[in-house]
Amino acid sequence: MREKFAVGVDIGATNLRVAVSDKKGIFRGELSERTLKDSSEVFLDQLTNLIVKVTKKSKVRLEEIEGIGIGSAGPIDLKKGEISPTNLPIKNIPLVNELSGRFDLPIYLQNDCNAGAVGEKWFGAAKNLANFVYITLSTGIGGGAYVDNKLLLGKDGNACEIGHLVIDLEGKLKCGCGKRGHWEAYCSGRNVPNFVRYWIEKNGKEKVDSPVVKSALSNEITSKKLFDMAKDGSKLALEVVEEMGKLNAMGIGSIINAYDPSLITIGGSLALHNEELVLKPIKQNVKNYIRNRLPTIEITPLKNKIVLYGGIALVFQNE
Ligand SMILES: [Zn+2]
Repeated sequence: MREKFAVGVDIGATNLRVAVSDKKGIFRGELSERTLKDSSEVFLDQLTNLIVKVTKKSKVRLEEIEGIGIGSAGPIDLKKGEISPTNLPIKNIPLVNELSGRFDLPIYLQNDCNAGAVGEKWFGAAKNLANFVYITLSTGIGGGAYVDNKLLLGKDGNACEIGHLVIDLEGKLKCGCGKRGHWEAYCSGRNVPNFVRYWIEKNGKEKVDSPVVKSALSNEITSKKLFDMAKDGSKLALEVVEEMGKLNAMGIGSIINAYDPSLITIGGSLALHNEELVLKPIKQNVKNYIRNRLPTIEITPLKNKIVLYGGIALVFQNE
């Protein structure tokens, strides 16, 4: 029997990644480029070339490819097959129509977090599990949930926009979406600087002589700097990181209460670069917020390739 292959695509605002894989999830080739943002056409040409290049690199002919599965930064319009990633200046990219015209192959699209959940179910820690949630802690916060073996989509495909769960009644910080009190406004990589400044003010630490305070008040703090200082033993940085962990536990607690999963996997660059510092306070605090039975909580074994695996799984699950 002829072997079957799929192309997986991970569309991020920073990087565009593609891979060719067989049905077992063994990658034959993988490529990545900085995402070109000049126009829809430039972006679509870049992606087309990258798919052609990666199939050549994999020594797989286009005729052997079953389909192309894409996980894209959202929002996406599932019905129209269009993407409008928040951090890309170009909107309404007609991805599915264009690619099906160019490749004459089935094209499958999901937002990156839902694709990640599909990848986890096919190739990762959630094989044989009917109820689990994949969460990404990265520039933003997102998730994908399977309940009773069904990927939750919702009326527009946004059933698991967990980054916008409310975790602060007083709504001290404003989210990128414009609303207040959302989880992502406090704990996502992009909003770490806001959170550190808020924490310093709340705890009256403005005058404390510490690199954390200095870099926060001079607008130089980043997520990486904060976590690096915590790893280097800064007590203050650790306190901030632990407070963020409590808020992560609130978000995750709400997810457990809503979806009753048996497993939660966590990915995304912020979590993958700081596994211990992120996971520990979540595990310590989550029991304070849940009514349902505690699920296993762990870092995804698919690491930063989970969306690529998801794209590949989207193809094979539709066979
Ligand atoms: Zn929001």
